[in-house]
This record gives sequence, structure tokens and C-alpha cells, in this order.
Amino acid sequence: MDECIFCKIIKGEIPSKKLYEDDKVIAFHDINPEAPIHFLVVPKEHIESVNALNEENSDIIAHIFKVINKLVKEEKIADSGYRIINNCGRDGGQTVNHIHFHVLGGKTLPMKLT
Ligand code: 5GP
Ligand code: ZN
Repeated sequence: MDECIFCKIIKGEIPSKKLYEDDKVIAFHDINPEAPIHFLVVPKEHIESVNALNEENSDIIAHIFKVINKLVKEEKIADSGYRIINNCGRDGGQTVNHIHFHVLGGKTLPMKLT
């Protein structure tokens, strides 16, 4: 997708602070962190959101969670805990229409939404 920010990061057209990359996914620090540790795990395939998952493309979700399992250990938040967030659509607060998982940790995260 030509205008997609995350596709541009994947292609290296926009710089990012990369934590991990393989042939299927990339993980990088969020530009506007909401916690001491806040990174995003993003499939290289442009899938808009959970709404666009299907039999053909959904194996990537298991792979993303395996990558998260590895990265939280490397970032030393596996034991203290962390939150994985996926925002979908307008009411979910999705601002980049390329599916991604936020991983936040390094402090006790508030639970209330308002
Ligand atoms: P969403 O609101 O769609 O769930 O999350 C999008 C996230 O992408 C936001 O937390 C935002 O800070 C982050 N973001 C947007 N543009 C960029 C960028 O160019 N670089 C990085 N590293 N993060 C970005
Ligand atoms: Zn994209």
C-alpha cells in the first residue's frame, strides 16, 4: 500500500528503531510511547485490521505472538508483566490501517479507559 506509514517503515522508506525483523514481521519502538517500553509488532503483509483476517492470512497472528513472547524476554518485562493491545476501527482508536499489536510495559498500567 503506497500511502501506508507502516508499509513505508517495512520498506525502509521511513526510519524506525527496530527491535526485530524476519521475513514475515517487523517490530519497532512506537514513536509516541505511552509506557517506558512500548513497541509495535507488525506483519509485513498489508492487512488492514482484524476485520480483514481470513483462513489464508491469519497464521501470521500466531507468529506475531511467538515474536512477542521472545521480545518481552529480551526487553525484561516478561516477569513484571505487559499489555498487548490491538485497536480496530474508529471506535477502537485505530489510526494506522495496517494491523499491528502494541506491547506496553515497564510500569503498572492503568486499567480504566476514561
Ligand atoms: P493505533 O492508534 O493505530 O493503534 O496505533 C498506531 C501507533 O503507531 C501509534 O501509537 C503511533 O504513535 C505509532 N506511529 C505512527 N506513526 C509512526 C511512525 O512513523 N513511526 C513509529 N515508530 N510509530 C508510529
Ligand atoms: Zn501497510
